[in-house]
Amino acid sequence: MAAITVHDKAFSIYLPEATLQKRIRELADAVNTDYAGQKVYFLAILNGSFMFAADFFKYLTIESEICFIKLVSYKGLKSTGDVTTAIGLEEDLHDKNVVILEDIIDTGKTLHFFLPQLQHQQPRSLKIVALLHKAEMTKFDVSIDYTGFVIPNKFVVGYGLDYDGLGRNYRDIYQLAAD
Ligand code: 5GP
Ligand code: MG
Repeated sequence: MAAITVHDKAFSIYLPEATLQKRIRELADAVNTDYAGQKVYFLAILNGSFMFAADFFKYLTIESEICFIKLVSYKGLKSTGDVTTAIGLEEDLHDKNVVILEDIIDTGKTLHFFLPQLQHQQPRSLKIVALLHKAEMTKFDVSIDYTGFVIPNKFVVGYGLDYDGLGRNYRDIYQLAAD
């Protein structure tokens, strides 16, 4: 479909399925090469990354485990700023090669506050795969190791990404149409 409506807004096609799949395969191939002979523990961040994680995972040839976690942010009790905790992370990450799978990195805030908690568990290595990166919007320090597409600051939906709960079901990614 060239255009869709989600709630009250019109979106036009931006990254078609074939483009996404080709790039996701390239990302997985890079990870397969970089971790050849090693085992990787993937952490997929819900909800948005469920579709990306499923497709990416199918292209892996290295020994791979995956865990889906949800990040919840709240204000710290003291003036320490935001705190991000992970729901669903039961495994100890000590000495594991951990790779995070994120659908989109915008300001970088979510991962910036979450990464120290993972580092605390002393994984052997910790890397990030992001399908989309709104590079011009990123203000928090997050080093992305594998980026699918650098995109402009326009709201996107589809392929797991939602607009107020809807739109996740599309196999292509759509961009908010100009008003
Ligand atoms: P960050 O913490 O990097 O600013 O934000 C990351 C989160 O913001 C993403 O996981 C996603 O939930 C949301 N987000 C940022 N930009 C978009 C967008 O264009 N579309 C959708 N659907 N979510 C977005
Ligand atoms: Mg996300």
